[in-house]
Amino acid sequence: MTLEKPKLLTGDTPTGKLHLGHWVGTLENRVRLQEEGNYECFFIIANTHAFTTRYKDPAQIRENTIDVALDYLAAGIDPAKSNIFIQSEIPAIAELTFLFSMLVSHARVLRNPTLKQELKDKDLGDKFSFGFALYPVGQIADILSFRPSVIPVGEDQLPHLEMANEVARRFNQIYCNVDPAIPDSEQEAAGGLFPIPHPLVGRVRRLIGMSAPDEKGNFSKMSKSLGNAIMLSDSPDEIKDKIMKMYTDPNRLRASDPGTVENNPLWIFHDTFTLDREWVEEAKARYRAGKIGDVECKKKLVESVVSLTEPMRQRRLDYEKNLDHVFNVLSDGTARANEVAEITLNEVKLKIHQNYFTGRKLSLEM
Ligand code: ATP
Ligand code: MG
Repeated sequence: MTLEKPKLLTGDTPTGKLHLGHWVGTLENRVRLQEEGNYECFFIIANTHAFTTRYKDPAQIRENTIDVALDYLAAGIDPAKSNIFIQSEIPAIAELTFLFSMLVSHARVLRNPTLKQELKDKDLGDKFSFGFALYPVGQIADILSFRPSVIPVGEDQLPHLEMANEVARRFNQIYCNVDPAIPDSEQEAAGGLFPIPHPLVGRVRRLIGMSAPDEKGNFSKMSKSLGNAIMLSDSPDEIKDKIMKMYTDPNRLRASDPGTVENNPLWIFHDTFTLDREWVEEAKARYRAGKIGDVECKKKLVESVVSLTEPMRQRRLDYEKNLDHVFNVLSDGTARANEVAEITLNEVKLKIHQNYFTGRKLSLEM
């Protein structure tokens, strides 16, 4: 018998194509951990969650589901080593969402800061659907169905993961008799069904978008839905266009004006994407002294970003020509994901005494 590897799970909502924030926040870690080979990797395309805000555009959600799969493959997720799967094709996730929704209070879900921020960013006010409020619980089911050890995510996901851990502990206490004093690392050894996974945040916890800050000087997160992103699939011309228009120091009208480096997106992006550190440090000094123009700095940034994204874009173009292969990858990944999630669901049913027809005992008690 071969021992199963510990599992890694993470994913994306198909509300658009993937961007640089995804790369530094999570994709880069995914590719690295996949290559190191210590985990069985599962990448979920959370298409049901796209319906929470886009239920009127099902065809668009389908298109974006394929977009995300293409972006994964383009970024280096290798189907020979990892499983890419579609959320709506995993019935166990929907079943577990309902059961887990009993293990977290309604008020706790609504207090989730990521949910609150999204309501604000997406201007949902008090019009949001019941399903929107349910999605954090759905995400708990996405995670716990796979009983993963590690979850590579951007910083905005940490409140969701904290809630998933609360539900896992609660399940272990109520249904597996795990003592509340048992530390997270020992939950499984103490008989708990769910290990407590730990998040792995990327080298940039939260990459900002390309647009101007709000009135308090805060930049919004680069996000698919906010139109402030450079996509991994953008052409060099599109990237150039976006960078040339990007927000920098508004008080600097000409190259001879001293510029501010701190909290300036131009330098945040150079720090993130320009590998030539010497150039960056020298150019920052010249920028502060009014000895280098924005245009030169932006051109250099275009080079840095294009050298990262262009190989990905080329790979994506190849996969686009072979969608049959992409559907096969999704179908294989989904089959493996179902195997794992079904086992978890069966174990859950056993623990909650609702296994009427499998491993059955013909009595009123278990
Ligand atoms: P949406 O606008 O639809 O919410 P998004 O751009 O926020 O889309 P998600 O699908 O919500 O992307 O996020 C997928 C993963 O990418 C998560 O782990 C998230 O933390 C990470 N991520 C997204 N944007 C960024 C960013 N700007 N910086 C770092 N990580 C990010
Ligand atoms: Mg998001």
